[in-house]
Amino acid sequence: MSNDYTQMWKELGLDLTAHDALLQVLGKGYQDIFLSQSDRPTGMDYFNFVMSEVHGLRIKELVDGKKEGHKIVGSYCVFVPEEIVRAADATLVGLCAGADFATEEVEKVLPRNTCALIKSAFGFKLGKVCPYLESTDMIVGENTCDGKKKSYEVLDTLVPNLYVMDLPQMKSTEGRAVLRAEYDKFKKAIEDLTGVTIDAPRLKKGIEIVNNKRKAVHRLSELRKADPVPISGLDALLINQVFFYDDPTRFTDSVNKICDELEVRVREGKGVRPKGSPRMLLSGCPMAVPNWKLPWVIETSGAVIVGEESCVGERGTRNLTDDSAATMDELMEAIVDRYFKIDCAVFTPNADRLEHVKEMSAAYKADGVIHYGLQFCQPYQIESLPVEKALENSGVPTLRVDTDYSMEDVEQIKTRVEAFVERIKMSACSACRCS
Ligand code: SF4
Ligand code: SF4
Repeated sequence: MSNDYTQMWKELGLDLTAHDALLQVLGKGYQDIFLSQSDRPTGMDYFNFVMSEVHGLRIKELVDGKKEGHKIVGSYCVFVPEEIVRAADATLVGLCAGADFATEEVEKVLPRNTCALIKSAFGFKLGKVCPYLESTDMIVGENTCDGKKKSYEVLDTLVPNLYVMDLPQMKSTEGRAVLRAEYDKFKKAIEDLTGVTIDAPRLKKGIEIVNNKRKAVHRLSELRKADPVPISGLDALLINQVFFYDDPTRFTDSVNKICDELEVRVREGKGVRPKGSPRMLLSGCPMAVPNWKLPWVIETSGAVIVGEESCVGERGTRNLTDDSAATMDELMEAIVDRYFKIDCAVFTPNADRLEHVKEMSAAYKADGVIHYGLQFCQPYQIESLPVEKALENSGVPTLRVDTDYSMEDVEQIKTRVEAFVERIKMSACSACRCS
């Protein structure tokens, strides 16, 4: 980190010793996993910089923005509509965390068998190491899975600014009405927080900013359909993770810039792996920074990741919000239309997701799908069986990996992933019959 942010972190109430330890682990992990890759696009320099300043410069920007009246809203879910937050000149930041922290403290307030994502979010709060969380003016929790729903009751006792949004569990007319009512309530809460009345021009602008971010990552996704793949899955995942932290306009420009470079690579047939390398689609639970374990295992086992069916990936970004309407009511309807299509496993039934995984695997020419389930995540772990069945019935080899944030099972996962990659290579060879 280029500057000394100690004073800022102190004022945010961070535990400086614990925070220092976290940054050291993060920096080492980034060095070993990302900077050790070869043939990275030069456009990744920007994302290296973002990561090196993720608790520094970006936080300073947010804190400076607060002094000018721009509020910060934290969220744990892609159902929280960023368009509405942007429309009030506020900033939405992701608070999900991808590393175990202060586990002993966490297990005093949550059961041990809670998923790592929830425990990690609590660990970052109890360990006082997350400057994003500590700078928020409002934290939005959402009633999705039971783990989150119930843990927000506990989080409410730990933070002064929790807002809980109810979400439907079925894609019915009634479910859609619940989402509309909740988004109307949320708009009012954001107006109360910021003192800004959100009118149609403001909302249109908010939609435009967020759509531009999504369009940029769609462009990136398209380029990953090429063989050879012009960017590693790890780097593409990192871009999808930074989506939740960075200034949206700067992020959009940086992604478009890297896409310009990747277009040249694709035209010239240059890739990060040889043409014909086994192509994997990742599907399942979201992967927050610095949860890079499984992608790292996959990409050091001879395969390359070409897409993520995940909320940190295509499930979170795939649809645009229609901004053609003129009235507030119509624009709010367009927002509801867009978010109601998210096929999170908390919905029942959730046939759309099975179709989407199959579509993605065909579109990205995936040779196999690796389903990532976090231990104790009932929605995704239960849904991994029908996902596997749907894919295998369509002739797509699938591997289910259930894990957590610890490194204890790395060798075991690596053995399974390597065997899966071999299986794919063998079936490609027998289909080809070249010898
Ligand atoms: S997986 Fe479901 S609960 Fe988690 S961020 Fe995505 S939509 Fe929200
Ligand atoms: S990973 Fe699963 S259990 Fe954990 S918060 Fe997400 S949906 Fe809930």
